[in-house]
Amino acid sequence: MLDNPIEYLKGVGPLKADLLKKELALFTFGDLLEHFPLRHIDKTTINTIADISATTDYIQVAGTVDDLVILGEKRSKRLVARLKDKTGTLELCWFQGINWIEKNIHSGRPYLVFGKAGFFNGKPQITHPEIELWSPSMAEGKDFLEPVYPTTEKLKAKGLNGRQIGKLTASLMEMISPKEIQENIPEPIISKLKLMGRFDAYCSIHFPKKKQDYDAALYRLKFEEFFISQVRLGLTRLSRHKSSKGVVFEKVGELFNTFYSHYLPFELTGAQKRVIKEIRADTGRGRQMNRLLQGDVGSGKTIVALLTMLLAADNGYQSCLMAPTEILAHQHYKGLSELLQDMPVNLRLLTGSTKTAERKGILRELAEGSLHMIIGTHALIEDPVIFKNLGLSIIDEQHRFGVAQRARLWAKAEIHPHVLVMTATPIPRTLAMTAYGDLDYSVMDELPPGRKPVTTVHRNEMHRVKVIDFIRNEIDKGRQAYIIFPLIEESEKLDYENLMDGYEHVKAFFPEPKYWISMVHGRQPADIKASNMHRFVKGDTQIMVSTTVIEVGVNVPNASIMVIENAEKFGLSQLHQLRGRVGRGSEKSFCILLTSKLNNDSRERIKTMCATNDGFKIAEKDLELRGPGDIEGTRQSGALLFKLANLVNDKEILEVAKKESEVLLTADESLSSHYNLNLKNYLLVQKGKTVWSKIS
Ligand code: ADP
Ligand code: MG
Repeated sequence: MLDNPIEYLKGVGPLKADLLKKELALFTFGDLLEHFPLRHIDKTTINTIADISATTDYIQVAGTVDDLVILGEKRSKRLVARLKDKTGTLELCWFQGINWIEKNIHSGRPYLVFGKAGFFNGKPQITHPEIELWSPSMAEGKDFLEPVYPTTEKLKAKGLNGRQIGKLTASLMEMISPKEIQENIPEPIISKLKLMGRFDAYCSIHFPKKKQDYDAALYRLKFEEFFISQVRLGLTRLSRHKSSKGVVFEKVGELFNTFYSHYLPFELTGAQKRVIKEIRADTGRGRQMNRLLQGDVGSGKTIVALLTMLLAADNGYQSCLMAPTEILAHQHYKGLSELLQDMPVNLRLLTGSTKTAERKGILRELAEGSLHMIIGTHALIEDPVIFKNLGLSIIDEQHRFGVAQRARLWAKAEIHPHVLVMTATPIPRTLAMTAYGDLDYSVMDELPPGRKPVTTVHRNEMHRVKVIDFIRNEIDKGRQAYIIFPLIEESEKLDYENLMDGYEHVKAFFPEPKYWISMVHGRQPADIKASNMHRFVKGDTQIMVSTTVIEVGVNVPNASIMVIENAEKFGLSQLHQLRGRVGRGSEKSFCILLTSKLNNDSRERIKTMCATNDGFKIAEKDLELRGPGDIEGTRQSGALLFKLANLVNDKEILEVAKKESEVLLTADESLSSHYNLNLKNYLLVQKGKTVWSKIS
């Protein structure tokens, strides 16, 4: 019955049905059932007029109407009626529908009146009240709270305001029996958590008898949303584990061990060790790894990538590491080549600007298999690149790559290579659980020891001169500074001009010949960009003026100052990424956020940045400010479309749902216990809403 088209519902008809479909996407009875009320109106009690006070909101009173008069002219024309009960007098006032009211409301008769109370000239008044002729059956008040539903202007114009939609819901609820809304949560969980049953929950979310019933219904339905999605994600993960074949890295060999004991420049952090263990377990058991590695900026993901690549090489497989920008690819290549210089490992770099002859050589070595590891940009997924036996693809800074691009990389081998996606944009745990719940997922939430936290301050741009003095001082002590300009305009040309202006200003502030300034931006040819970057890396220039191309991954340990111009224009994760460029060396580092006027949101962002260096905390705040749909990397995930549940406010419910679903799947992954049959049937009937089943 819930699949019935909405026009079959009593009181709907083709015209209204059309509007309900267009305006609210309500196509079926079931859609209406899931069109939840915004709030409820309490008409369960009848108050007296004397109860009305300055703090009264909506109120219901009963009394006799006397004295109906029309006052005013034209726009201020209104009908005023007096309602009297034993305790006092209330004015009722209409500006619209005067003729109808005049005809239908009669002096001397009793009425039940409901509306938002206010005071006019010191007298209690309700404008445009609901009014009904009194009948004795009303004496007890309504025996449920009256729902008010979301609606639109167009629907209102056609007589479907928030309360009238409630009439439709009421006639729907009259037809529905527990048969249509069968329980989908296993009984042991229902009784353990004292959840309201499914049918009762749908009744009480629309027409609760009292507030507590509504709350219990809401909890139950939110739990159900989370629980069903967790079970589904869990099942997807389990089935992927079963069905996907992967190459086996069975041993930790010579290369890994030699590197680990002789060339690893530092002790690994606990988090790094844990993740490597997880990767080893994943890649050793014959199924394809699809792992997302979340690690805050500077948590040391590169070395994890290298060790994993060595593991691949030890087992006779090639691997590739793909970076989102040429600068980053170069940097990875340089860093890893240095680490591997005394190792018998063949490592090369392939980017869009690799010269033809060299490129040919690389492609040949890749095809022959003499090249163990390749680092590159998306040039790596261009078609002529053929591997002999690609066993591992690592993707750095995932969100810069489209899903389609990743899929191409992934499809390069017959048995799909293991995939490790590393991202430095931490996402909140709740999002990770819902958006990536079907993936293998690692977190590195620990920074290497000895890092000095970056001190972040906020300055109004009027104080730029002071900031410049500070920078000069630090530079004179031998440090380097970034000055970042935002991409503000839609047009690339204006952005460019904005940056050029900024550059000229910086130059004017540092006129002495001892100061050298680099500039990097998106419009430069790759080689110019690289050489400008390189001069800054080598310390030949002390100041780097740039747009956000510098954002991801760049590593210049001697740079200790990050100045962000128009910081109010940046999102939180971007600010955090930018700040991550400093604090990489032994010196105390600073991040200075320059802004003009702030609005509430930007003030909140700046405050957050000044208060914490923890990327995961910043991600939580970001989620709170923007909502899940806008968080980087999760936009494509249908898993986030909850109707009632909310990832910010309902974290605890999600935790409980996750735990229960894990317990359940561990005990009975085929859902064949008789307790779980209702759940299994429900999942089977639900049309397959797909979620990300693979990273690629
Ligand atoms: P990210 O996770 O942001 O990619 P990187 O891999 O670039 O971080 O590492 C940041 C810096 O920390 C690098 O200079 C790296 O050599 C250093 N590093 C990584 N792991 C450790 C460790 N366990 N101990 C000390 N320094 C480390
Ligand atoms: Mg990195």
